[in-house]
Amino acid sequence: MSGSTIQRVLIVGAGQAGGETAQRLRAGGFTGEITIFGEEPLPPYQRPPLSKKYLAGEWGEDRLLLRPASVYADEGVTLVLNRRVVWIDRTAKRIRLEGGQELPYDALVLATGAKARALPVVGADLPGVHLLRTAAHVEAIRPRFVAGAKAVIIGAGYIGLETAAVARQLGLEVTVIEAAIRPLARVTSPEMAGFFLDQHTAQGVRFALSAQVAVIKGQSQVSAVGMADGSEIPADIVIAGIGVAPETALAELAGLNVNNGVVVDRAMRTSDPDIYAIGDCCSRPLVHYGDRHGRLESVHNAIEGAKIVAAGILGQQPPKEEAPWFWSDQYDLKLQIAGLFGGYDHLVQRGDMAARKVALFYFARDRLIAVDAVNSPAEYLGAKMLIQEGKSASPADLADPSIPMKDIAAKARAH
Ligand code: NAP
Repeated sequence: MSGSTIQRVLIVGAGQAGGETAQRLRAGGFTGEITIFGEEPLPPYQRPPLSKKYLAGEWGEDRLLLRPASVYADEGVTLVLNRRVVWIDRTAKRIRLEGGQELPYDALVLATGAKARALPVVGADLPGVHLLRTAAHVEAIRPRFVAGAKAVIIGAGYIGLETAAVARQLGLEVTVIEAAIRPLARVTSPEMAGFFLDQHTAQGVRFALSAQVAVIKGQSQVSAVGMADGSEIPADIVIAGIGVAPETALAELAGLNVNNGVVVDRAMRTSDPDIYAIGDCCSRPLVHYGDRHGRLESVHNAIEGAKIVAAGILGQQPPKEEAPWFWSDQYDLKLQIAGLFGGYDHLVQRGDMAARKVALFYFARDRLIAVDAVNSPAEYLGAKMLIQEGKSASPADLADPSIPMKDIAAKARAH
């Protein structure tokens, strides 16, 4: 369908991807109807602070919101919150809400996100056992998340480690249980994982690695985590950060192509050209990595998807894709990541782990594919630009911190 004939845009999902889509459409001059449907009670908000400043109590709800709630009405965007979309009729181009109401669309945007995995063990429903994915989850965590409490965190991904850092800052006793042999196994190398393990250990966090949770124990509330080896870890609160699964049920019911995410093309179109999918729920071509499809769980992916869809609906040129980027804040460490490290065969270290200012550059043969930069913004920015442009850099130059990163990047770009 051409841009000019689209009058009604329905957006399913009121997260960052959904919220940004509405904003970009209006900013680009779209004058038709826009409606956003969300299952949560809040207008679109940012998730990254949930396990950082929001959990720490440094940010209130107002700062979480992407834009003030009043903006939507001002811009003529209808927000339908606390409601589920349960069905898409692709032939009639209508959606159905829980309760039966139906609404027509010209373009439909699936921005349904991902759901936190529930702990698959007996006792996971006891009071004091939590997930951390939504603002409501954090509110539920707060009463037990207090100085002196024993926190057991299951999963040493970003959620687990960021939560551990905040817990230590607030004075809780913290044990992190991880099934893999190291933290951050899905997202970084053994070297960077080892660095974060050391930092947390120095802050007093205890780790149980290669460890299996068997049961959550307690009478009226959680009292301990029972491990597969028979040991027990006392707990006043348990927080599980064991990954997410994309929300694809609606797309599957509608018969769209789904394969670890709703499969989209470079324009974020699903197998139905009038339906787009963006953000955590979609599997998209990774243009800097040979167009293989992949799912990215990141702010970058949410924003970029929104920009591409808005351009598509408006009949405008899409923006050039950025290299994927991520970040994590733990204690006073800012980890910035550009690119995808999977498939690297060697890495180059620049800087000093002991000085807590270090960057690891990942190479596949001669090609720079990713960087993990701790308290090293120049290294992050330089590498991100190179990855985006398909350029590499001299490993010898990168390993020499006396050569400024901007000079290394300039030399690489000139080749
Ligand atoms: P994650 O990165 O998938 O990490 C979960 C970890 O938990 C994995 O190492 C996993 O190991 C482990 N695990 C799974 N089941 C377990 C079990 N039963 N017992 C012990 N360990 C278990 O996911 P996450 O940390 O929950 O984060 C959720 C999502 O939010 C992700 O998309 C993440 O990228 C995003 N997020 C991003 C940031 C950031 O970018 N700074 C911050 C927070 C959250 P296996 O892989 O071996 O299963």
